[in-house]
Amino acid sequence: MSVTVWQVAEVPGASVQPSCDHLETGDPPLPEPLGCAECLRGGGRWVHLRQCLTCGHVGCCDSSPGQHAHAHARPGHDVGRPLEQGETWAWCYTDEAFLRPARRR
Ligand SMILES: [Zn+2]
Ligand SMILES: [Zn+2]
Ligand SMILES: [Zn+2]
Repeated sequence: MSVTVWQVAEVPGASVQPSCDHLETGDPPLPEPLGCAECLRGGGRWVHLRQCLTCGHVGCCDSSPGQHAHAHARPGHDVGRPLEQGETWAWCYTDEAFLRPARRR
């Protein structure tokens, strides 16, 4: 599995900037069928999807009724990314840090 390297995005105006120790993640493949694992099982609906970059679990975002991506997140499954086209960011649930792709030096 390839590795994605992230950097923490600065929060404009914040006196304390977030930090994150989870700046190297996997780049897991998408499951088939693509959808929130819990919602697909229980017949729920989702707004947006987030994928756990540790294990590839796909859950629904915090705007969805189930919030299954957040429910899945825990230490060891820290970082989730959106699955919408063109979205290239990630969110560390553990550190509450917004991550952007980093360039390798
Ligand atoms: Zn983190
Ligand atoms: Zn869900
Ligand atoms: Zn996970």
